[in-house]
Amino acid sequence: MTKSTMKFKTEVSQLLELVTHSLYSNKEIFIRELVSNASDALDKIRLEGLIDKKILEGNNEYKIKIDFNKDAGTITITDTGIGMTKDEVISNIGTIAKSGTKEFFAKLKEMKESDQKQADLIGQFGVGFYSAFIVSEKIVINTKKAGKDNLAVRWESDGKEKFSVDDSEKSDRGTEVTLYLNKEDIDFASEWKIKEIVKKYSDYISFPINMTIEREEKPKDKDGKEIEGAEALTTYTDETINSQKAIWQRAAKEVKKDEYNEFYKHISHDYEEPLEKIHLNVEGMLSYKALLYFPQKAPYDLFMREAKTGVSLYVKNVFIMEDNKHLLPEYMRFMKGVVDSADLPLNVSREILQEDKTLDKIQKNLVKKVIETLKKLKEKQNEKYLEFYAEFGKVLKEGVYSDHANQEKLSDLILFESSKTEAGKLTSLAEYVEKMPEGQTEIYYITGESRKTVENSPHLEKFKQKDYEVLFFTDPIDEFITTGLTEYKEKKLKSVGKGEIDLADEKDKEEEKKQKDSNKKKYGSVLDNIKETLKDDIKDVKISNRLTSSAVCLVSDENDISPHMEKIFKSMNQEVPVSKRILELNPNHPILDVMKSIYENNKKDAKLGEYAELLYDQAVIAEGSPLKDPVKFAQRMADLMVFEGKVKVAKK
Ligand code: ADP
Repeated sequence: MTKSTMKFKTEVSQLLELVTHSLYSNKEIFIRELVSNASDALDKIRLEGLIDKKILEGNNEYKIKIDFNKDAGTITITDTGIGMTKDEVISNIGTIAKSGTKEFFAKLKEMKESDQKQADLIGQFGVGFYSAFIVSEKIVINTKKAGKDNLAVRWESDGKEKFSVDDSEKSDRGTEVTLYLNKEDIDFASEWKIKEIVKKYSDYISFPINMTIEREEKPKDKDGKEIEGAEALTTYTDETINSQKAIWQRAAKEVKKDEYNEFYKHISHDYEEPLEKIHLNVEGMLSYKALLYFPQKAPYDLFMREAKTGVSLYVKNVFIMEDNKHLLPEYMRFMKGVVDSADLPLNVSREILQEDKTLDKIQKNLVKKVIETLKKLKEKQNEKYLEFYAEFGKVLKEGVYSDHANQEKLSDLILFESSKTEAGKLTSLAEYVEKMPEGQTEIYYITGESRKTVENSPHLEKFKQKDYEVLFFTDPIDEFITTGLTEYKEKKLKSVGKGEIDLADEKDKEEEKKQKDSNKKKYGSVLDNIKETLKDDIKDVKISNRLTSSAVCLVSDENDISPHMEKIFKSMNQEVPVSKRILELNPNHPILDVMKSIYENNKKDAKLGEYAELLYDQAVIAEGSPLKDPVKFAQRMADLMVFEGKVKVAKK
């Protein structure tokens, strides 16, 4: 191969520039990132070695080395990890191989350049290797992939636009990254500085991080005393500068907060501290250790299909795999952390895991712990819980319908706005039930796109009059919840826009029934007429008992899907059976008498049909749905206004 020069993809150039700017105040993290890459590469070769010893070619050394040269202004980080082939160097280092890069940049563009949030987002994205360009004017990678036939490659770049790849010499597998530091960053090439940074960020890395320490020492006599007048000698010793103690293996009371936080940042690529953590040491029938974190902010890819996995599986301190399905259910995908089980074999494969009961049991316990922690947070540190909920509430709601075993506990954790909360304030189902006035037997909710579209809905009129609270189900997922959660504390969840509602007090029931019968008799023929006119759009016309001021509203049959759900399905490009709905008329609204009199005076009056169409359109508008034919609606309105006007003019 001859040396070839290639251009970074535009995204990489953009990212490099952003990284350099926004992480400027936190330059030192490049060591953490490079050590972390080295550690990952060591995890990989160790794992492959477990499966097939041949790949190790007799080299069982797993270590990281950091060298520096103050005079040359360089730092070199070497590992005996898996290494990279030429193609891998080009695709891993020269491009962003991550899913969601496009979304990431789109989101970034929305933010102001100076915004702190921008830095947070970049942090979440995991800048990794690129962070080294903050302190370097040039980086050279010399790497050789494990395996007999692989050749060494040299990659070089100034991190601006281009990079080059070339053949190189390297006898052992692994990667060597050399940073040529910027003049102003030359201070990083120092023993104490590197030691300090490694201690701070990478102490728990399970492989030894070695450094050759140079000392000027005077020769000593046989009693260990320095020989006076003798010339100092330069000695070199290899020192391991990290304690290598896996943080989750330590007793919780021994681990400092900073250590927990740094470890979190290492595994999550988050630049912020975690909101909360769980550190477990379980012994008995099942023995495992777990260290789980709740992040403060939702990652940008939380709702993307190939979202990053959150929890890694270790067996006796050895990294086995990233995992998001076995250790925690999907609706807890926001959790980050490590689970280390001593009960699994080291060479456990994904297939074995699928069958293994150990992980099921661990999962059960972990889920319980996560829920307990959230419950405690909600009760004792409500503000913190609300912060969490604003970021991850939607995901938690997925659990309410998917995790039947924990449904009850999870339903205690979910929150909603309601007709009695201020905008932005939330209430729980427990609070709702507690505040229910006497006589109220069900939990009411209304579904819609936003608080704005539901808070003035005609469906709420009667409930407001009776001082019954109605929950606002405005997340797309909220209505799905009701397919799994039909009751809470033995109170049924009931949509105010579906089926029959029965709000009359016991003593008024008789009266209401009488009213209903008499209304039916009085307006029956008008209703039939309306139904005939609108037969293509609705399945029935009824006298309403949920309206107090509006003339009409549309309701769904108890088991039909709501128009809101219909919209959601359509937006996901899913076929939905269109279900016709029921038009309800307010018996106390004068329009019914007007229509009755038109009907009785001239049964064939075309105006009655126009009235019916207008009423239907009003109901559609009130629920925030689009009109089928807005032009026709406008014409009918205008005609009616002219007619009204003419009547008035004629009267004068
Ligand atoms: P991340 O570590 O988040 O994936 P990086 O930009 O730090 O992102 O690294 C990109 C990829 O380059 C890594 O996923 C890995 O495949 C490869 N890589 C980086 N450093 C090394 C290394 N020391 N040994 C082997 N592969 C490496």
